[in-house]
Amino acid sequence: MQTITSSSEAIELEDKYGAHNYHPLPVVLAKGEGVFLWDVEGKKYYDFLSAYSAVNQGHCHPRIKNALIEQANTLTLTSRAFHNDVLGPFEKYVTEYFGYDKVLPMNTGAEGVETAIKIARKWGYERKGVAENQAKIIVAENNFHGRTTTIISFSNDQNARKNFGPYTEGFIRIPYNNIEALSEALAQPNVVGFLVEPIQGEAGVYVPDEGYLSKADQLCKEKQVLFIADEIQTGIARTGKLLAVDHENVKPDMLILGKAISGGFYPVSAVLADDHVMEVIKPGQHGSTFGGNPLGAKVAMAALDVVKDEKLAENAQKLGEIFRNRIQKVVDKYAIAKLVRGKGLLNAVVINDTEESSTAWDICIALASNGLLAKPTHGNIIRFAPPLVMTEEQIHECCDIIEKVISEFDKK
Ligand code: PLP
Repeated sequence: MQTITSSSEAIELEDKYGAHNYHPLPVVLAKGEGVFLWDVEGKKYYDFLSAYSAVNQGHCHPRIKNALIEQANTLTLTSRAFHNDVLGPFEKYVTEYFGYDKVLPMNTGAEGVETAIKIARKWGYERKGVAENQAKIIVAENNFHGRTTTIISFSNDQNARKNFGPYTEGFIRIPYNNIEALSEALAQPNVVGFLVEPIQGEAGVYVPDEGYLSKADQLCKEKQVLFIADEIQTGIARTGKLLAVDHENVKPDMLILGKAISGGFYPVSAVLADDHVMEVIKPGQHGSTFGGNPLGAKVAMAALDVVKDEKLAENAQKLGEIFRNRIQKVVDKYAIAKLVRGKGLLNAVVINDTEESSTAWDICIALASNGLLAKPTHGNIIRFAPPLVMTEEQIHECCDIIEKVISEFDKK
């Protein structure tokens, strides 16, 4: 392997040899620990993206790392052609942790979403009596659930969709945070599920009105429709509770988890449901070579232990309030910052400029020079989502950096 000695060298290699399917900030990271990252030149940064909320436990958490090493020394992959001695204990652990009868383990978030869609459809045909091939799933406008052909089929992001058709049928898209629209869609025949993000992360951290999720859950129950929560980004303590739906005491019929379920070490995703739903899946109808492997299962248990033992939900709740209070003052003072919103440590600042402007990007570049890494979601929105192991002192230091950069842009 070619040894990288400068950021520009690494960027040139990616540019020449890698597909151009991302537009990263020009920072080349070489090391991570807790809330910090270091680039190739040794510059230290606060991480305010947490790998899109996959490293809630902080970078290279020693407990998760040790679980990974120990299991890697023993057994990594058997496929599901055989049983292994970690899968069963993991399934017991994770179902008790989240309060469901059963789990179906996969690898990436998008696979988790695909899994939930398949289960919902099959449940619709076999338990609800929907006529073959007629099942419909309600989704929200501006959703982000991943990048597979079926998932982009029900997205309204033109960049994600254009020229990837023909699209998968069977979805009804309604405005987010709109109970009336949901009620109308639920009146249509053959609806089997409502797939929703409890907070729309990629769309720009859109927090729905209080009561939206509980009302939506209630309407789904009345219509015998599965309420499917995609908590891949919002789950695992990010929003100040173990799950974002916990803020409204909702128990989804299906829960999709990914990202931080393995603390950034290894791709693990999971779909949880009770028996009457999960039992529609029979041998051969779904799976993946790596899904449920002992390495991922051990890592996930360690990652979830850390969340409980280090009280990460409580910390996210407390630090989130400090962050929003401090940044609200910045918003009040500087016109360039339009608003701050979020829950726990999933927050966003909307920049007072058009979606097409480069101001949010330029602010992120300036934040990086000041030692803080964040990324715009959509043109004029910057998401701020640090690892949940941050301290009060550190969040104040970070708010100082953000205030300094925003004040400088306000003068421009
Ligand atoms: N669902 C949500 C809500 C997400 O935020 C993401 C990723 O950002 C996904 C699904 C897709 O996860 P993955 O990138 O692991 O496929």
